[in-house]
Amino acid sequence: MTAGNSNLPMVWDLIEAKKQTFAELADRVWETPETCYMEVQSAAQHREMLQAQGFRVTENVAGIPTAMIGEAGEGGPVIAFLGEYDALAGLSQTAGTVSHDPITPNANGHGCGHNLLGSASLLAATAIKDWLEQTGTAGRVRYYGCPAEEGGAAKAFMVRSGAFDDVDIAISWHPSNFAGVQRETSLANCRIDFTFTGRAAHAAAVPELGRSALDAVELMSVGVNYMREHMPQDCRIHYAVLDSGGISPNVVQAHAKVRYVVRSPELQGLITLIERVKKVAEGAALMTETKVESTILAGVSNLVVNTPLMDAMQDIWESMGPPAFDAEDLAFAEQIRSTLTPQDIAASWAQERLEEQDIPLADFVLPPHKEVRQMGGSTDVGDVSWVVPTVQAYGPTLAIGTQLHTWQVVAQGKSPLAHKGMVSAAKAMAATGLAALQSEQLREAAWADLKKRLKGHAYVSPIPEGAEPPIAAMTLK
Ligand SMILES: [Zn+2]
Repeated sequence: MTAGNSNLPMVWDLIEAKKQTFAELADRVWETPETCYMEVQSAAQHREMLQAQGFRVTENVAGIPTAMIGEAGEGGPVIAFLGEYDALAGLSQTAGTVSHDPITPNANGHGCGHNLLGSASLLAATAIKDWLEQTGTAGRVRYYGCPAEEGGAAKAFMVRSGAFDDVDIAISWHPSNFAGVQRETSLANCRIDFTFTGRAAHAAAVPELGRSALDAVELMSVGVNYMREHMPQDCRIHYAVLDSGGISPNVVQAHAKVRYVVRSPELQGLITLIERVKKVAEGAALMTETKVESTILAGVSNLVVNTPLMDAMQDIWESMGPPAFDAEDLAFAEQIRSTLTPQDIAASWAQERLEEQDIPLADFVLPPHKEVRQMGGSTDVGDVSWVVPTVQAYGPTLAIGTQLHTWQVVAQGKSPLAHKGMVSAAKAMAATGLAALQSEQLREAAWADLKKRLKGHAYVSPIPEGAEPPIAAMTLK
């Protein structure tokens, strides 16, 4: 069994020896929150750490300046650890606080905990590297520095570039309320910009000569809203107006632009729904006598889970247990909890189908639930999971009830409890990586499971041919 592996204590000791160095890396990334493809300083921090730890570094992966791969070891299987370091706009927040208190109003903040995510994955990769060196074992370990998880689909571009072609097993994690194994699939999604072009005119003197692009955007929203009643209920559509045509009501708006995000449980359903949204856009253009152009910016595939790897990681978590939080961690988590609503707290327990308990931090490991569930969000880990057997952990870095993409996540992002949660995730990931490295049987079972789940479907990139990473477009956000 994986959990009885006699090499485990050694790998965990290697993590313990370097945990402070990597907590400091997570803190530095927290201090320079950068969004979607703009992670210049955060990527530099990761690159420097890879070099300091003795990895061979490849930069500019898939033509993305903030994407990188660090590799160590020779021969043998290839184990990949996926890291992220992008932040979110508008979530600036002072560390360690228990009320909404931005450092700079409307500035960026690490509202999804990716400062911890990248650092723990790199820590796990480093522990495996150190273990390979000290034991003289054949095998390669890689750290994939993946930018733009939030809306940029960098991993889908990295997959398309062939960066994962020779990988045997991929491992990642996400900061969470709980400790355990992720057993959820995610939605496939696609980001599309619709640009309407009309004709300007004096809105009072000659309105009959004008054709409003803004009207077209509004009518498209109305059409999509009516369509919601007639689409599969597990699909999602959201939008943001990027250009409303100007600030002058007395000028008919000649240009307008709206960005849509369309989500569906599977790639095929996504493609069907995108075609319907495009028809609504064309209808809006027809009604307003404007023109519409659509551009797909990025897309991600649904997540494919892997039973043998989830079971191996479950064993490891059960032998390891949750992190040992101390009285100070509990007191801080209790204060954070006082800022949450009863609905926030109930939602966290309900997501895991658990009976609500009156505790601020997870003191248990998530039990394996029987069926694989669908989560509402999307992740570009989905694209990796179609081409490599992939498993992900949950690390307990947040007071129970904390919802992602809130100021409370940022407030907790540099706390001792977050550091403990990230170290426990690094241990679970490294131990799973070690199991996969040492067991050909586990690797074969993981590949057989992936083939079975794909039911003969080949991976088709959700990114249109010729589309480049939307690095420039993201500055519009
Ligand atoms: Zn996230």
